[in-house]
Amino acid sequence: MHNIILFGPPGAGKGTQSARLIKKYHLVHLSTGDILRGEITNGTALGLEAKKMMDQGLLVPDEVVIAMISNKLDQNPGSKGFIFDGFPRTQAQAAALDDLLLEKATAISAMYALNVEDEELIRRIIGRGKDSGRSDDSDPVIIRKRIEEYNKKTAPLIDYYKAQNKFVAIEGHGDVDEIFYLLCKQIDQLPVF
Ligand code: ADP
Repeated sequence: MHNIILFGPPGAGKGTQSARLIKKYHLVHLSTGDILRGEITNGTALGLEAKKMMDQGLLVPDEVVIAMISNKLDQNPGSKGFIFDGFPRTQAQAAALDDLLLEKATAISAMYALNVEDEELIRRIIGRGKDSGRSDDSDPVIIRKRIEEYNKKTAPLIDYYKAQNKFVAIEGHGDVDEIFYLLCKQIDQLPVF
């Protein structure tokens, strides 16, 4: 079983690479951003609350996203493993994820961190916003806020996973196929458990 965290700032390419990885390795893709946007589309109370935060480029409260992930783990017993995309984003989320996996007698295998420079991130996100229509993808001020939140609250998780010997840096510039190749090379080296 492989439980992988795809890590990196907004626009690093986590969603794109996750989509490819789940096909190749038959893992379940858990993207908190996608789940939250699903709640918004369905007009749920949770979605309405989350949208307020997301539209400002701020993180949604930990307890909300932790409960979402907990439910998804319960809904997928017997899966070959999970790709966590956009989660965890804070220390509290990382600690909660470790606990949830431990309850299921499993653990994070590795955290792959896609490195991409800020200017390239902004360029990609604005490009994506034109197609996706995501309200948080069009305003450069909001995009910068998301990157700021990442640097302040999420980037420190690198040390959390380094301390567990699970951190692996991946070059996130360049060709999508090339980055996919780098990720696969890492995953293929993971011990099977
Ligand atoms: P990106 O990584 O490109 O910003 P996401 O779809 O992962 O896109 O996230 C979009 C927004 O959803 C975030 O800016 C944040 O408001 C919210 N969000 C997603 N995942 C989390 C999380 N784990 N914790 C808190 N907020 C989250």
